[in-house]
Amino acid sequence: MSQPSLTIALSKGRIFKETLPLLAAAGIEPQDDPESSRKLIIGTNDPSVKLLIVRASDVPTYVQYAGADLGVTGKDVLMEHGGEGLYELLDLQIARCKLMVAARPETDLEPRTRLRVATKFVNCARRYFASQSRQVDIIKLYGSMELAPLVGLADAIVDVVDTGNTLRANGLAPRLHIADISSRLVVNKASMKMKHAAVRSLVAQIAAKTGQ
Ligand code: AMP
Repeated sequence: MSQPSLTIALSKGRIFKETLPLLAAAGIEPQDDPESSRKLIIGTNDPSVKLLIVRASDVPTYVQYAGADLGVTGKDVLMEHGGEGLYELLDLQIARCKLMVAARPETDLEPRTRLRVATKFVNCARRYFASQSRQVDIIKLYGSMELAPLVGLADAIVDVVDTGNTLRANGLAPRLHIADISSRLVVNKASMKMKHAAVRSLVAQIAAKTGQ
């Protein structure tokens, strides 16, 4: 019997680059570079495996609705999406960063003040502040969150932080830690059931590479 086909949704940039060695460990090599190619479906040396290039925040949606069997995306994106319809198979230990509350160093973040928080991670922010029994006003933004405290739109932001250079360059500092983030391999429940052997084999080869 021929191998069932597997499609893997992932975003270009850092996640694609850091996923390449893991795919290589499973014998999968892309036939195009998404940085130079405009193709959104990239074939590989394995005729049964295709890569779908999607926005990072769309990966859970593609996988959830079976537009792709598998996906690689950050834990921040999964936390924000909610993970409905997905199994998290592996922590790939790549694209590590932290989800943080950031603000100007002098901003009072004490619980008695009601904060205005700008973020694209509205669900994560709401859950985090609720877990701290904090009432906050959340303002949804799609990018350049660091600007919001500088122009008085918000007291604080919730964003992913790696080196902290972007925060520092804008007079902000990481203040409260919400979660450690890394990229995860996810699968939808139908593909897990229907393509179990192919999924398991891929997971085993990647897990061996990541030392799990
Ligand atoms: P930093 O190194 O803290 O200056 O990070 C620069 C920007 O890159 C941050 O504002 C984030 O938006 C983004 N970033 C850093 N690490 C990641 C990651 N692992 N996944 C997605 N975005 C990231």
